[in-house]
Amino acid sequence: MNPLIILGATGSIGRQAFDVASRLDIPVAGIAARRGSDELYERAVAHPDARVAVAAPTGAERERFGRLGRRVAFGAEAVAELARVPGVTVLNGVVGAAGLPASIAALEAGNRLALANKESLVTAGPLVIEAKDRGGGELIPVDSEHSALFQCLVGEPSESVRRLILTASGGPLRGKSRTEVEQAGPAEVLAHPTWSMGPRITVDSATLVNKGFEVIEAHHLFGIPYERIDVVVHPQSIVHSLVEFVDGSVKAQLGEPDMRVPIQYAITYPDRVEAPVAGLDLPTLEFTPRDPAITPAFDLVVEAGRRGGAAPIAVNAADEVAVRAFLDGRIGLFGIVSVLEGVLRRIDDREINSVSDVLDVDREARTLAMQEAGLAC
Ligand code: MG
Repeated sequence: MNPLIILGATGSIGRQAFDVASRLDIPVAGIAARRGSDELYERAVAHPDARVAVAAPTGAERERFGRLGRRVAFGAEAVAELARVPGVTVLNGVVGAAGLPASIAALEAGNRLALANKESLVTAGPLVIEAKDRGGGELIPVDSEHSALFQCLVGEPSESVRRLILTASGGPLRGKSRTEVEQAGPAEVLAHPTWSMGPRITVDSATLVNKGFEVIEAHHLFGIPYERIDVVVHPQSIVHSLVEFVDGSVKAQLGEPDMRVPIQYAITYPDRVEAPVAGLDLPTLEFTPRDPAITPAFDLVVEAGRRGGAAPIAVNAADEVAVRAFLDGRIGLFGIVSVLEGVLRRIDDREINSVSDVLDVDREARTLAMQEAGLAC
């Protein structure tokens, strides 16, 4: 197996990737994080052959890491540089639009990209796919839903696919009335029943904004038109997604919710190897349609995906601002919807040809979102 480069090494996906690498005896050839924390330093010491990149170090961190010698580099460009090391698998667990340059770099260099950074495909799907085609890299998703779709599609030509069906747990607001959702505060929303995740993605799971992003990602990853991608609510989070084929057959991928499985599969594909994950005690599996009355933000996000260009970048940036405003108690859940709506109405359509185009729209949309959320800027 190729050596592994772990980007976002101190985040939840990064930590689990170290776990997978040590269990499978895969050499770690590089590690990167935004900040030079103690945790990153310990990883660097534990992997004396790994190159290290720190995207935005403080002065003190720069000094401390500098003493590790010439294998350390600083700045955002150093992270993309790591992704270009030939003959490696790049696990991109960076959070936010900062992960995009490394995704493009890895694919252009012909590497395998195990992709956990959502923003890469949400904000710049066409650029990422072009980089893959140009460089001949492999793009293997790590998100549980997309890994499931990928696994169901192994050996199946794309013409045989009728539709993709992504599952959504529905989060803590499933089955609630519109009024209850309107009044739900941060504490209630942050109590996610099946997956434990960071605060933004937990809010995004409740509003189904996250599922909207996943529809956009699936569209780019598998080249399936939006009208053939559906979402179904499945509270147990055991069926990670399904593919329906032209002959009416449906394949699904099931398993306990444990991110080490999709991380490991993206690294070992096409092989499957042992993992310390228990088999399934098949529980009762429920599937219900999404309730559009309590998840209007989902429709806005998918619509932004269809519009393409600046719209998906803008909706992603706007959502980040809106979720922060929600967590600060400044707006309610439907306030998030108004912010997204306002920003999508005001952002100018344009072609996106580079990472800097993406970042321009991102900045613009954040300013608009602050205004829409009634925050000073
Ligand atoms: Mg997911």
